[in-house]
Amino acid sequence: MDFICPRCEMSVTAEFYGPCESCRAALRAKFVAVRTDVEVADYEPKMNVTPNGVALKGD
Ligand SMILES: [Zn+2]
Repeated sequence: MDFICPRCEMSVTAEFYGPCESCRAALRAKFVAVRTDVEVADYEPKMNVTPNGVALKGD
């Protein structure tokens, strides 16, 4: 079917209505970026623990 991409308003030909291929790639990249931010936030406290452990060993 032919329709207008709801995101970038380009004419698209696809089997189902939705964002065009480039918009889907952009949305996927955005979703991955958000997931990466969450993983980094979870990982940061562990990074802070390591220097303290090394400092205690130093004393
Ligand atoms: Zn688009």
